Amino acid sequence: MSTDGTSGLSTITPANLPEAASFEQLGYSGAVLRGIGEAGYERPLEVQTACAQPAMDGRDLVVRSKTGSGKTLAFAAPILSVLDYSARAPQALVLAPTRELALQVHGEFEKIAGHTGLKSVPVYGGTGFGRQLDALRTGVQLVVGTPGRVLDHYARGTLRLDDVRIFVLDEADEMLSAGFYEDIIQVFDALRALEQVLLFSATLPHNIAKMINRYMEEPINVDLSTDRVDVERIENVVYRLTDPEGTRQQLLVAVLESEDPGAAIVFCNTKSDTEAVTAYLTRRGFDAVLLNSNLAQTARERVMGRMKEGKHRLLVATDIAARGIDISFLPCVINYEPPFDVQLYIHRTGRTGRVDRKGRAITLLSAADDVEMRKISAQYNLKVTEEETPTREETLKMLSARRIRELKERLVHDPVIPDEFRTIAQDIIADGDAERIVALLVDHYLAEAAHEPQPEPRSEGHGHPSGRRRRRRR
Ligand code: ADP
Ligand code: MG
Repeated sequence: MSTDGTSGLSTITPANLPEAASFEQLGYSGAVLRGIGEAGYERPLEVQTACAQPAMDGRDLVVRSKTGSGKTLAFAAPILSVLDYSARAPQALVLAPTRELALQVHGEFEKIAGHTGLKSVPVYGGTGFGRQLDALRTGVQLVVGTPGRVLDHYARGTLRLDDVRIFVLDEADEMLSAGFYEDIIQVFDALRALEQVLLFSATLPHNIAKMINRYMEEPINVDLSTDRVDVERIENVVYRLTDPEGTRQQLLVAVLESEDPGAAIVFCNTKSDTEAVTAYLTRRGFDAVLLNSNLAQTARERVMGRMKEGKHRLLVATDIAARGIDISFLPCVINYEPPFDVQLYIHRTGRTGRVDRKGRAITLLSAADDVEMRKISAQYNLKVTEEETPTREETLKMLSARRIRELKERLVHDPVIPDEFRTIAQDIIADGDAERIVALLVDHYLAEAAHEPQPEPRSEGHGHPSGRRRRRRR
């Protein structure tokens, strides 16, 4: 690796990126290399190669690299290679915008730290202080957290920041946006021994210049295929709301029926939309779960955990709640509507087709959304495929076929139906109101199915089953 602390190289791009065929060549510590080997990572990804040496040399870094490109390991491995494990005060602080992401990033550190002797703690809100306090009291070298809770602990005197040398902002553009900016400045001002700042994001932070002047010293820019939608891996698709009477929710159901993705995140622009959409889908028998910041912490963790294990099919989320989340094998992302901010398209679509997998990014468009979508496709030079929207009749047919298939599956599992129900069924069929009565029964059946506790899936294993599977009652 040609970069060192004195070379003055200020930008690393794919053009001048040194080749690295193995993790050993990156100069990580022996303990970290063993951890990486055990985690099953075979070869370093581009951003990991680019960051390794400058990060371990103590340089400040501004890193732009697309979602799913392995940024977490790109800072975790160098940091774990240089920590002083005999000390028991935090030397490195990593901040992320959401609790889930803080947990995920902390998990990535732990995954490769098994041989280092690392003591660390995730510090985030929405949960009791107890466990975090215990860990902080016994002493840690690394803290990964969200800004609010970190500042809470700092204010209470339960978290010492005096020895923090390395400060990482993951999803830096989000961290430097209005919602977090004040908090981040407070943290910076508390870090009196700060030597190194590392910023990671897929898109360029807007107010980065101010930050650099104030807190960073001759940072190296690591600029890897930034601000681009990966057209190789991600297919960009739109469906139009063609029926003038139709609603966006009906369009979503039409798309879900026709695409039948094994799993997907449905992104909404507002919390209230995530709630309405989840309720609408659940009512129609889709296995959809909600993720937004109104949920209690334990509920959010449960939802994320189950989604990652492939036990839910649809996650309906706001942008901020799903930021940086890594769900392996996610084949599809659906934009319930185009995002408010063009850059969010990258963050959303980056959730699918991660590392070396293909993905599909679907956007639902009303006539009024055309301008927004054109802006996005112009900005990122997208080739957008327009799929034909199934008609209302076609959608209802698919929906109905699915329900019947599921009910028939139930028959296989509950073959013995008491006589009296059969008699009732015969009388219903013969009744003039048969259609309405059966419709009512189906509605109640779906409502009940939506609220019953999730049985454990029978087949274990990673990833999401391909579509057309729903939980059923035992
Ligand atoms: P980003 O932060 O850039 O969005 P992540 O750090 O979340 O990306 O990593 C995306 C996925 O890639 C994770 O599942 C991670 O475990 C995996 N990954 C990271 N480094 C490697 C590697 N060298 N080889 C294979 N997979 C990797
Ligand atoms: Mg990340």
